[in-house]
Amino acid sequence: SAEFEAKYTYHGNDLGAVWTTDATTFRLWAPTAANVKLNLYKSGTEGADDLIEQIEMKPDVNGTWIARKDGDLNGVYYTYLVDVNGSTVEACDPYARTTGVNGKRAMVIDLAAANPEGWENDTDPNADLGMTDAVIYELHVRDLSIDESSGIQQKGKYLGLIEEGTKTLSGIPTGLDHMKALGITHLHILPMYDYGSVDESRLDVPQFNWGYDPVNFNVPEGSYSTDPFHGEVRVKEVKQMVKGLHDNGISVVMDVVYNHVYDAESFCFNQIVPVYFSRTDLNGKYSNASACGNDTASERSMVKKYIVDSVKYWADEYHIDGFRFDLVGLIDTDTINAVMAEVHKTHPNVIFYGEGWSMDTLVTKPDYHMTTQANAGLVPGFAFFSDTVRDILKGSVFENTEKGFVSGAVVQGKLLHQCFMGTPDWAPEPAQSVNYVSCHDNNALIDRITLSTPESSRADRVKMNNLAAAFVLTAQGAPFFQAGEEFLRTKPLPEGGYDHNSYASPDSINAIRWDCLDTEECIETLRYYQGLIQLRKAHPSLRLATRKEATEQITPICLCNA
Ligand code: CA
Repeated sequence: SAEFEAKYTYHGNDLGAVWTTDATTFRLWAPTAANVKLNLYKSGTEGADDLIEQIEMKPDVNGTWIARKDGDLNGVYYTYLVDVNGSTVEACDPYARTTGVNGKRAMVIDLAAANPEGWENDTDPNADLGMTDAVIYELHVRDLSIDESSGIQQKGKYLGLIEEGTKTLSGIPTGLDHMKALGITHLHILPMYDYGSVDESRLDVPQFNWGYDPVNFNVPEGSYSTDPFHGEVRVKEVKQMVKGLHDNGISVVMDVVYNHVYDAESFCFNQIVPVYFSRTDLNGKYSNASACGNDTASERSMVKKYIVDSVKYWADEYHIDGFRFDLVGLIDTDTINAVMAEVHKTHPNVIFYGEGWSMDTLVTKPDYHMTTQANAGLVPGFAFFSDTVRDILKGSVFENTEKGFVSGAVVQGKLLHQCFMGTPDWAPEPAQSVNYVSCHDNNALIDRITLSTPESSRADRVKMNNLAAAFVLTAQGAPFFQAGEEFLRTKPLPEGGYDHNSYASPDSINAIRWDCLDTEECIETLRYYQGLIQLRKAHPSLRLATRKEATEQITPICLCNA
């Protein structure tokens, strides 16, 4: 209710554990709790019998609870014990900066001590580029290095992204050197905050997940670190990775998933303040109206603050240069505008884009608009994935044998023209259109072309692949592609056919196979993509930000009635 929000919206910036050498202060927002205690632990492992001390927290302003503990607590783990709705729950801190294994216990951390050398001078190497100047490359941390042919030592790890000098058997660069030679400006990393679907305590067993199931929004995922048991390691290694990428001219985009959590019941925020973080139905149960698990109630004041604080934190603390919002069509436009305004105050270079599909959801307040393509005009500066260009070029993702423009379908000339100009009907400006034909979702590009062109030769399919790339990399808007598309990455199933939803598939399907670059077909395709990226970078008229500039400067020559 409005009364609840007026009384219990906390505006301070000290939620969580604030560390100094002399003392650490803890502040938790728990307005409906009857009592809160702070547990300090020696280790970060849930269930370990190593409680150091239990401290009563005192109620303070706007529904917050506070405690202060003298001494240097760097490296001490903690949880909150909350009496709420007649039961007692032990929960992690929603504002945890890092955690022990599997994100169960938060850890007090001296964040500056985790900085790599030269961090104070580290900046976005492409800070001067606008959205349409970006060439965005979408990568899963594990996929880059896990195959033997990568030649990378730190397989499946953050640090694998910054290994230099790695090559295939025939001497073709892999990993970081490959990304540099390709010419990308922005590396978009699939979820790397702490997620729930990989067991960090069993990393000797191969496990894979894309990671669209958040557990701790402000903590790096542990399975990509070399030691998920010690909270400082993951923080150090993400910063090292970002620094290494920046040093090599590559900006870093983080894939963020504020629209839902791994499990609404056990999510720490909902444990501490039941049914506050996630939207609920008329019976007060967590709502799955979108069919995506549970929907975040971004319209509530302390959820909005949480999302704004979280994005700002990654930009400030980890020097992240861009954010890709998963299913942003479930988050309200006020929240997204607040995120952009807050981050741009100190980081005007940061880019924002997301999936603006229109979805069902039970918004808990009237008069809120969701951040969908159709509402692009309400969020200037926020770009959306263009399913329009994706589907017209290769066919609808919902029918994987359907042809598109590149595979021989007759398509609407007007629509093709609009896509080339970066302004399909929902996009007010080219800078709001992310153009793509491949991402982690659905079939890999060459697989999709193969499925929809049974009559064609392999050589023709490669040409279709390249035609799609030529369109994406010369159209107005921001070009984006899945890592490996540039050398015909494929996700073949052992039983035949191709994996179209590899979110939990084994490495044998998801890993990037660098040994492909030892073949003529793959290396020629790579050279073609490199040439397209060079062409785009050389010609500002391929990268116009506004509809006005594009209309004035570009005349598509087309055998269609535009
Ligand atoms: Ca995790």
